[in-house]
Amino acid sequence: MLDVAALNGVFQFHPKCKRVKLTHLCFADDLLIFFKGTLQSVIGVQCVLERFYCISGLKLNVSKSELYIAGVSQGQMQGFQMATGFSIGTLPVRYLGIPLVTRKLSVKDCACVIEKIKAKLNLWASRRLSYAGRLQLVKAVLFSIVNYWCRQVLLPSTIIKRIEQLCCRYLWRGSDSPAYGARVKWAQICLPKKEGGLGVKDLKTWNIACFLKLMQNLLIDRESLWIAWVREYVMRVADFWQLECKPHFSWCMKRLLKLRVVAHPILSTGVVLTVRTIWEDIRETAIPVEWHKLIWFALHIPKHAVIAWMTILNRLPSKDRLIRMGIEVDSVCVNCGVETETRSHLFFTCSYSKEVWKRILQLCGVHRSVSNWEDELGWAVRHLKGRSFIVFVLKLAWQAYVYYVWEERNRRCFRGTFRSVDSLLHCIQDVVRIRAHTKNIRLDDVNKNICVAWGIL
Ligand SMILES: [Zn+2]
Repeated sequence: MLDVAALNGVFQFHPKCKRVKLTHLCFADDLLIFFKGTLQSVIGVQCVLERFYCISGLKLNVSKSELYIAGVSQGQMQGFQMATGFSIGTLPVRYLGIPLVTRKLSVKDCACVIEKIKAKLNLWASRRLSYAGRLQLVKAVLFSIVNYWCRQVLLPSTIIKRIEQLCCRYLWRGSDSPAYGARVKWAQICLPKKEGGLGVKDLKTWNIACFLKLMQNLLIDRESLWIAWVREYVMRVADFWQLECKPHFSWCMKRLLKLRVVAHPILSTGVVLTVRTIWEDIRETAIPVEWHKLIWFALHIPKHAVIAWMTILNRLPSKDRLIRMGIEVDSVCVNCGVETETRSHLFFTCSYSKEVWKRILQLCGVHRSVSNWEDELGWAVRHLKGRSFIVFVLKLAWQAYVYYVWEERNRRCFRGTFRSVDSLLHCIQDVVRIRAHTKNIRLDDVNKNICVAWGIL
């Protein structure tokens, strides 16, 4: 109705909307109407809304409506206000939660995104989640709340830093308190799994990738109101790559034009890319690690995987590391009570864990002596490849072994409870048995033997 009325001259288009014939935006019960700042247009729009009321029975709520006016005199403004009964609003106004501004977003503009994240994380802070559980939550929050913002605006770097700080603190501490000596740097966590990270998206790069995607939409002239508007009012006929950056352009448009240097090699080929592929192109990469498939495989157990990942990076707070950090603790391994507790000792050279691992290997029909951490990791990386059932069982058992040996060390340190080699082995066997049940197993002789040994059948 508004469109027809504008075309028939009942009211005049907003000067910056005329060429795209835009009269309004609406989503659910939010409605934005754009028109020229004249009394005639104000009355014209009111007539249309009145007519809409007659037809639909839906009446505009005057107390919930606001007028946003620019470029008219104080007297005219009062005239509009009297004619409509609306109060005069001040910018920025939010549309679908995002503040509509032409300048750079301020920290204040983004305060609500921080509050939203805090609320989401706090909701879960009271529950005792493992690192893996918290990681899942951090990823979900980043994906839902932050991604929504990243797709529409360039977030100020202070906001990005604060979001990352919140996520980092929550991941390590379970709350918004300082994660002193965070176990693994956020930059490493943000690497893809095959490069030794946890596959969390680095926000700054992701935000830029989203903007390059907007740029691509502009280049391929995808059907969207924003693109139609930018083409009509900003680009005119100019070639986007040659477009001169004018002082009156909005902050966002200036940034978009600045990003052309980054975008040109990626977008000028004309191939339509997803945000993810753009992100792959512009992100900083690290050398792939050879052990990632030992940690991340189908049906892995997340909380075991995260502890195994930390162990490989040597970031578990073992006693030798605590002493190096200046924390006063005795250095003796609680699992054997004899030697100094280092990663290398705790896993594989300690008499306690050595026995557990030896028995695991035996259950899989591997009869050999157990070596040290480096050699055992090297063995696992070299041998636990492919999709065979024995590889699956050994990978699950390897992670469960690392997890339970570390858990046993913590229980002995902080609870004073002890489990024997047999009972630790039982815990690991249970894990493997339950997980293997969900898998289709080809029952040849080798697999049958493993199933019998692990009690899977
Ligand atoms: Zn020991």
